Parts: sequence; structure tokens; C-alpha cells
Amino acid sequence: MRKVYVDNAATTALSEKVLDKMMPYLTTVYGNPSSLYQIGSEAKDAVEEARETVAKLIGADNASEIYFTSGGSESDNWAIKGVAAALGKKGKNHIITSKFEHHAVLHTCKALEKQGFEVTYLDVYENGIVKPEDVKNAIRETTALVTIMYANNEIGTIQPIAEIGKICRDAKVLFHTDAVQAMGNVPINVKDDNIDLLSLTAHKFHGPKGCGALYVRRGVRPEILIDGGAQEKGRRAGTENVAGIVGLAEALKIAVETMEERKEKLTKMRNRLVDGLLKIERSRLNGDRDLRLAGNMNMCFEGIEGESLLLKLDLAGISASSGSACTSGSLDPSHVLLSIGLPHEIAHGSLRISFSDDNTEEDVDYILETVPGVVDYLRSFSPLWDKIKSEEK
Ligand SMILES: *Cc1c(COP(=O)(O)O)cnc(C)c1O
Repeated sequence: MRKVYVDNAATTALSEKVLDKMMPYLTTVYGNPSSLYQIGSEAKDAVEEARETVAKLIGADNASEIYFTSGGSESDNWAIKGVAAALGKKGKNHIITSKFEHHAVLHTCKALEKQGFEVTYLDVYENGIVKPEDVKNAIRETTALVTIMYANNEIGTIQPIAEIGKICRDAKVLFHTDAVQAMGNVPINVKDDNIDLLSLTAHKFHGPKGCGALYVRRGVRPEILIDGGAQEKGRRAGTENVAGIVGLAEALKIAVETMEERKEKLTKMRNRLVDGLLKIERSRLNGDRDLRLAGNMNMCFEGIEGESLLLKLDLAGISASSGSACTSGSLDPSHVLLSIGLPHEIAHGSLRISFSDDNTEEDVDYILETVPGVVDYLRSFSPLWDKIKSEEK
């Protein structure tokens, strides 16, 4: 059976080139970077070279502004809790975010609300895009941080980050962005975009799982989240994931180098897929059609359950998703789809296809051959679909 993996927004396959680069640090160069002997210093050099690479690729001033973490979730937690702790002491107890952030941001904000912080959750409208003027209007005297994702993980919509960053900088409010989905897919420059803190994770761009980074602009001092040893200049304890860090830098380098050609290829594939699937009766594309990641498609098909659709697609060899990996498995509709105004019953019938460079036009053909039949089949015994059809008459 044909196997088509199109859940690259959940995670990507580790690239072979990246694995090759990591291999010595998984085998012979196993020394602890904090030690004084040769294989330790070799490991340390590799970590510092990776730090330089990441700093350059995101337009940071200095390698010292890059901190390696265990991934996107930790980077988001550290940025938000760290800034909240540092500025909360000075009476700044207000945070601005959006309604459709990843749970690593939303649940962190919820946790801070329990500690007495106030959080404003901005609307993302039907197109899935935050309005910069809403950010401006929400800023108060007590605002410690604005945190808005660069691109959404479910519907792929890209946010006006440079504009939001400018508003925050002018208002002297710190700005964090969860750039996990955007990194390697859209050009990002922390200086041009006026970003103070930025989260990224390797496994979303063909690097290894369990390794991420937080960019912290020089002069910004979030409180420490992981206490312990003196690693990461004493600001994030734990023996470095040397192989992971080396892999992260290599994967990011490849992603940035191939960004333009990938964007062109994936946009073409994505548009053909969207046009093909929109021929299905009562289907809709979620999120702005153009201001979205090249590889992202998210659609709803009325009258069916996303879960059943995924199970049938899995039987046909297609690995896709109904939203985020974190909400699948629960019966709640996606908070992202609700945030763009979809009613519950429609939000339930969603399908997210996320391509990577490993996908081909043949994959698109296969999905286009498979999905309409599955939707028809599921509708054939759906009471909800019967109701929709009888109301049409
Ligand atoms: C995947 C993802 C995360 C979480 O990253 P991990 O490395 O899995 O912890 C955070 N934010 C967004 C937008 C994501 O897509």
C-alpha cells in the first residue's frame, strides 16, 4: 500500500544529512561539554559552533543570545513564565496573547492567571490573523509581555509579526513569538521583526526531537526556569543535548538554504490539493488562503467527524491530522477552529494536511483520489449529514 506522511506540522522525519552530522556526538564524542579533557571540549566546541549558526540564521546580534532547551514547549514556558516572574515583581502583571496559540503558550498563560496575572486573549477573526491595532489597544501601563505566534500550527496562518513587534517596541513592552511552525519556512530576522524572545524546535524542520532554542535579546532577563548546574551561562541547567544541538543547527541551516525553492514547490502542491478538495460539497478552507505556510492545508467537511476521517485515511496509508497532536485523542473540537468562528459541529469535521519537502505531486494525486470517497462514505451513514441535506430542501 502507498504510504503518505502528511503530518509534518506535528513532526518531521529526521533528515539523513542531519543524522550524519549528529552521529559522532552520539558515539565517539560523548564527553561532557563542561569537563576539561579533550572529548569534553570537542563537544563544547560543537555546541558553541551550533549556537553561532543559529544566531546568524535568525539574525541575532550575538551567539550569547541563543539558549538551547528541550524543545518548543520549554522555550515557550521559559519565555512567558520567566518574563512574568521578572516583571511581575515590578507590578507588571498583564500579558497579551491570542486565542489560537499553541497549548504550550495558552496553558502557560492559564497557569499564570492562577497566580494573579491578567491575560488578554486577542481575537484572530475569520481569516486566522491577529490585528496589530488590537495589540496596540490592549497594551496597558502594566503589560509585561505580548506573546503572539509567528504561524499557527493548525491552520498555518502567518501573523504580521514585524508590525506587532514594532508596536511593542514603541510601547516598551517585551515581545515573544512562538516561531516553531514558521522557522525554516518563512524568512525570520529577530531584529527586523523587533522580537525580544523567540521559541523554536528542531523536530519541526527535520531535526531531532527533544531539542529547541530560545532567543533572548541582549538586556532582556527572564527569570530562570530550570535551576541546577551552570550550563547555558548559568541560565538553563542540564547537561547539553550535544547531538541534538548539532542536529538542530544543521537542520535549520538546510531549511533556510532551501526555503525559497521549497516554498514554491509546496505552494503549488497545496493549491492543487485545496482546489481539488473544495470540489467536495459543503467543504471549506480554514484560515486565509494566501497568508499561510506553503505546506499547510486545513479544511472542514460538514456532516462528518474528523476522527473517523483520519482513521479511514490511515487505513488507506495516509497519515494526516485533524488539528494539533495535542487535541487529537480528546473529543473537544480544536480551539483554533473555534477561534476563527466555526460552530462546534463543523469544527469537528476538520482535516489538516501538512507537507514537507519529502512529499511529491504523486502524494497530492493519491490524497485527491482518496479523500472524496472517504467523505462520501462517512456521510452515507451520518445523521448530521442527513439533517443538513433535509434542511436544504
Ligand atoms: C510543536 C509546537 C510546539 C511544541 O514544540 P515541542 O518541541 O514539541 O515541545 C509549540 N508551538 C508550536 C506552534 C508547535 O507547533
